[in-house]
Amino acid sequence: MHNRMRKSLLDFTPYTPGLSIEELREKYQLQNIIKLASNENPLGVSPLVLESIKKYSSSIFRYPQNASPALSDALAQFHNIEAERIICGNGSDELIDMLIRMTCEPEKNTVLCYSSCFSVYKMVAKLCGVHYKEVARNADFSQPLADILATVTDDTAIIFLTSPDNPTGLAIPSAELVDFLEKLPQQTLLVLDEAYIDFADAEYQSFEILKSHPNVAFLRTFSKAYGLAGLRLGYGIIPLELAKSMQSARLPFSVNLLAEHAGIAALTDTHFYKQTLKVTAENKLFLMQELQSLSCKTLPSQANFIMFAPTMSAEFVFQKLLERGVIVRLLKNFSFPDWIRVSIGTKEESNIFIKELKGILHD
Ligand SMILES: *Cc1c(COP(=O)(O)O)cnc(C)c1O
Repeated sequence: MHNRMRKSLLDFTPYTPGLSIEELREKYQLQNIIKLASNENPLGVSPLVLESIKKYSSSIFRYPQNASPALSDALAQFHNIEAERIICGNGSDELIDMLIRMTCEPEKNTVLCYSSCFSVYKMVAKLCGVHYKEVARNADFSQPLADILATVTDDTAIIFLTSPDNPTGLAIPSAELVDFLEKLPQQTLLVLDEAYIDFADAEYQSFEILKSHPNVAFLRTFSKAYGLAGLRLGYGIIPLELAKSMQSARLPFSVNLLAEHAGIAALTDTHFYKQTLKVTAENKLFLMQELQSLSCKTLPSQANFIMFAPTMSAEFVFQKLLERGVIVRLLKNFSFPDWIRVSIGTKEESNIFIKELKGILHD
């Protein structure tokens, strides 16, 4: 039969996730494998979340409540904003999809980003038949705010800024965002993807300053600091009128019943959350020092990972790490062929990573 796929989608580059532990175990017959490739929570998942999932597991024959009202209420309280502004989704990826699909006119509007950014923005723009444009990063890899402003046209519907950025870990100071927004035309929505904001220092925490701005949408996720990557839960904090329209147009039930309750439980477990931040901060410092003492180039990171360039071919180091049971992320797909991204793990994982890296670089 003729391939019914839309012609414009036939040359799609699929999303490349980090290798899984299972895939690697099979390939190299390894016993002990550590995965530092997808910025997951090193402490696993909160015990309060597990309890909640157990408690609600017998209810999964029921549909969840549409649009996750209980979770939206909990998040509204958490952020001290109106619940109507919160839209929960099946990972923040779903919010990226909803925002582009619901605000951009196909074949007319443009989604504007910068080079080597999170690939889902481009993927969704293409799926939606929306123009997509990237501005080159600054020479120091930072987000090119001035060049983005200079590239905005009447047809620019959305600008995505990731802060802290993936894969660099670089964040945008609040003061720069305020300045950026003052210069941004009203018809353009700034979407701040804050998947890693939990790990960032105070000067990058822009939410309180910008939360009432009519042109900003924030994206948050439970996948990183809250340890729920496999459950798929994220949310947007959206300007009120837009949020109401999006809520009316969204597909029902995309956040499943267990995810909604898990999210509510995760918000209550401040101990787990604080431990996550503490362990991440300690091991980030450790990894940074060790990488530098191995003469690797590093970027300062406001996230739960570090981007570094080893003293040998990154692809070679990546491959050798795999053979030694350590999965990291080669950044070739992000067009940084000399760089690797390593997620911050537990103390033990960090020690193993450094030990194996030393073995490779000193071999
Ligand atoms: C991990 C990540 C997300 C979160 O995705 P989920 O769909 O919520 O798991 C969003 N944006 C960026 C830049 C990320 O790295």
